[in-house]
Amino acid sequence: MLIGGDWVSCEQNALESVNPADGSINYRVSAAGSEHVDAAVAAARSAVAGKAWRQMLPHVRAQVLSRISDGLKANADELARLQMIENGKVWSECKAQVASAAATYRYYAAVCETLGAEVTPSRGDYLSMSTYEPYGVVAAITPWNSPLTMEAQKVAPALAAGNAIVLKPSEVTPGAALAVGRIALEAGLPPGVLNVLPGTGADTGSALISHPDVRMVSFTGGTATGRSIAAVAAQRLIPVALELGGKSPHIIFDDANLAAAVDGVVDGIFEGSGQSCVAGSRLFVQRSVLEPVLDALVARANGLRVDLPDAAGAQMGPVAGFRHRARIESLVDAARREGGQILAGGARPEGERYAAGAFYRPTVIAGLSNAATAVREEIFGPVLCVLPFDDEDDLIAQANDTAFGLAAGVWTANYQRAWRVARALEAGVVWINTYKQLSIATPFGGFKESGIGREKGVSGVRLYQQSKGIYWSMNPANMPA
Ligand code: NAD
Repeated sequence: MLIGGDWVSCEQNALESVNPADGSINYRVSAAGSEHVDAAVAAARSAVAGKAWRQMLPHVRAQVLSRISDGLKANADELARLQMIENGKVWSECKAQVASAAATYRYYAAVCETLGAEVTPSRGDYLSMSTYEPYGVVAAITPWNSPLTMEAQKVAPALAAGNAIVLKPSEVTPGAALAVGRIALEAGLPPGVLNVLPGTGADTGSALISHPDVRMVSFTGGTATGRSIAAVAAQRLIPVALELGGKSPHIIFDDANLAAAVDGVVDGIFEGSGQSCVAGSRLFVQRSVLEPVLDALVARANGLRVDLPDAAGAQMGPVAGFRHRARIESLVDAARREGGQILAGGARPEGERYAAGAFYRPTVIAGLSNAATAVREEIFGPVLCVLPFDDEDDLIAQANDTAFGLAAGVWTANYQRAWRVARALEAGVVWINTYKQLSIATPFGGFKESGIGREKGVSGVRLYQQSKGIYWSMNPANMPA
């Protein structure tokens, strides 16, 4: 654990990190108990109150963030490898995610140095201003699917905003967060400004969000967990930002470039073995092109190279764990029971190479209705459910008939329809004739049960600040004589 700039261990309370590619134990890592949560929050509280951080000028704070970005790039192989052995994502994706995390720190260095406050219109003989101040101690809680990028998306803007942070990474992926903590210290971040506490959600996570000195919680993870965290935050009257699950509709109209659309759909669901919050897991295809689209999808799914994450040319690794695979299997079984036709996958890949790992084949299911379990629940695995639609009204009704509202994609040659559909979809991000394009400069977050608040973009810093109005009289009569 990283607490107040010191490395602390706790032998009697440890987590085992398991490599999902072969079931081997990567290492054991200490799990934080409530005494460590207390110590980390105290360290963060004293760091945020201390002059070294509070009085650090924005351009100097920006330099620290830039050096963290440089440090991530310099340690790219180590970080990518940590993520790969913990969550099984293929090497190329892990490397890309280190680059994305580094770009996030660089972006927020720029925001930190350039973002101003406002002089607001006055209604009298005074100057009125809105200034922005950090909350103090922020708790950041993250999932296992993309720890490098998810953690950078919280830590970089929260630091730019002037907070101190206690980061609790997922129990499945503590390694990269600890390495980033080390890199941040080497970059000159004052001790205690970033603390890293591995541990489970039930123990470490819940102790952290309940701590009276934690003034804001930033969470990315499942909707059920988000709901329970929001309930604690509501009791404590502290702000909470929630990036939650999804069941995103991906839509193909009959006038689309079908080859490009199928590529987009395949990447949109099978990249990262489907373990992406924005995975396009419900595909709606206009009925007149359903057959050719299904044929192309099945061929592509069967042709994807599922392999060990570090094998050259691997396109899909294992899923992140054995229990997680069992859950995916039970949802595919539910699809079978509810009348779904498994057109591709629906099973573990066969062969010695896969025997010890949590592999699952890219799966395409047709014949389910929008009410089926596999269509409603977030599977968070390489499973695509394909449904037909007849016209735009039918499509919008089906696409929006979900508790989630994170992302959506639409493929069509008709720009007026693209615009109409993009506006009608209940989703925090809509891609038109592309999928999964993401930029740190564009705010991101969910509608409905996919979340509250927006990360990324310049306004991503404001998520971690509270505004203060200051009124300053210009009337000389109010000054001492
Ligand atoms: P999860 O909700 O099980 O866990 C997320 C984090 O919360 C972990 O660190 C866990 O230890 C912690 N946690 C669990 N219970 C807690 C509690 N009671 N109090 C405090 N902390 C607690 O999610 P996961 O399985 O790690 O990740 C997958 C989920 O994350 C999916 O639903 C996915 O859609 C979502 N996700 C969302 C986004 C987004 O930006 N919207 C991005 C990535 C992942």
